[in-house]
Parts: sequence; C-alpha cells; structure tokens
Amino acid sequence: MYNLILFGPPGSGKGTQSVNVAKKYNFAHISTGDIFRSEIKNKTELGLKVQGIIEKGELVPDELLIELLDNAMGKFSNINGFIFDGFPRTLRQAKDLDVLLESKNDKVSLVLALEVDQEEVIKRLLKRAQLQGRKDDTEEVIRNRMKVYHTQTSPLIDFYKKQGKFESVCGSGTIDEISYNLYGIIDRHQ
Ligand code: AMP
Repeated sequence: MYNLILFGPPGSGKGTQSVNVAKKYNFAHISTGDIFRSEIKNKTELGLKVQGIIEKGELVPDELLIELLDNAMGKFSNINGFIFDGFPRTLRQAKDLDVLLESKNDKVSLVLALEVDQEEVIKRLLKRAQLQGRKDDTEEVIRNRMKVYHTQTSPLIDFYKKQGKFESVCGSGTIDEISYNLYGIIDRHQ
C-alpha cells in the first residue's frame, strides 16, 4: 500500500488536491475533518463531543483519532493506497500512525506539503466561509487554526524530514498546475 500524507496549513488546498490525487492513483481519500463534520451533521455521540472543539478551531484530542482512522481505512478495498488529508496533526498522532501501519506491515511512504503564504491562506479561508458557511471559517477562528498549526502541527515537518520522507510543492497557482506538480513527485517516489 502506498501511504501518502498531504500536509499543509488550513486553506492550503489539501482537500481539493487530495480528491485529484486519489482519483489518479486509485487511493482512498481519508479526511479526518470530513469525518468529524459528518459526525456533527448526524449528531452522533462523537459529533456532539467534538463540535465545540472544532468550532473554536482547536484540535480534537489525540486519543480519539487513531481508532477513527483505523475504522475509516478498513472501509476500503481494491485500492492502491491511502491519501491522508488533515492527519496526522500532532507528533503523537504521527507516532500512533506509525504503530498502526506497522501492525499492517506497512509504513508512511511520503509526506507532501503544500506551501502557501499565510495571508493568502487567510484570504482563501474567508472566501470559503462565504461559499460553504463552515462554522470554523470566521476570521477569529481561522487565526486560531493557523496558530494551532504552527505550534502543534508544523513540528511534524522535522519529524518526517529526518526520515527523508518530506517533500513540498508550491501551493499557489491553478488547481491543475498544483496537481501536476504533486503527480510529478509521487511518480518519482513510486
Ligand atoms: P480540516 O477540515 O482538516 O481543516 O479539519 C477541521 C477541524 O477538525 C480541525 O480544525 C480540528 O478541529 C478537527 N480535526 C481534523 N483532523 C484532526 C486531527 N487529525 N487531529 C485533531 N483535530 C482534527
């Protein structure tokens, strides 16, 4: 299995690019944010538990993530791999993912980061707020999500660089241009 992590700050285009990459390589797209939003919409026990946290732009506690991810991965068959979008977001999650993949005789294949300037990202997220009405896309919450990204998530860059698994692409440009650049790197790492 090819296990690809699409990395980058909120608003860097991970969701959009994951859909394209998943389609091209027959990977299962796993977005933990999408899973949480669906749980909230369906008012499940988990949804009710995480709703307030997500609306503030904080991270859902690490303990809740790995089982959720394992269940999500188990729902797919006849795929060439996975693309993880929005996971891992902390060092603990990255380590839990390694353990989970090891138990399946597998490992993280590549971490691909979308690099976008912070003000550009904030602009994009505010636009998305108007279009999609996501409750965590208000300016105050966006700024908090950026802060959370810098403090809790960006340390993962070094974690994966040390393993020689980290690559980045410029996240500005058209959707197709960015996808093309991502495909180039994935093809080189097959
Ligand atoms: P996203 O759609 O990936 O931006 O995720 C939306 C929100 O869901 C985040 O701001 C977090 O509150 C929560 N979330 C998604 N993935 C994770 C994760 N891996 N760890 C903790 N919280 C998460």
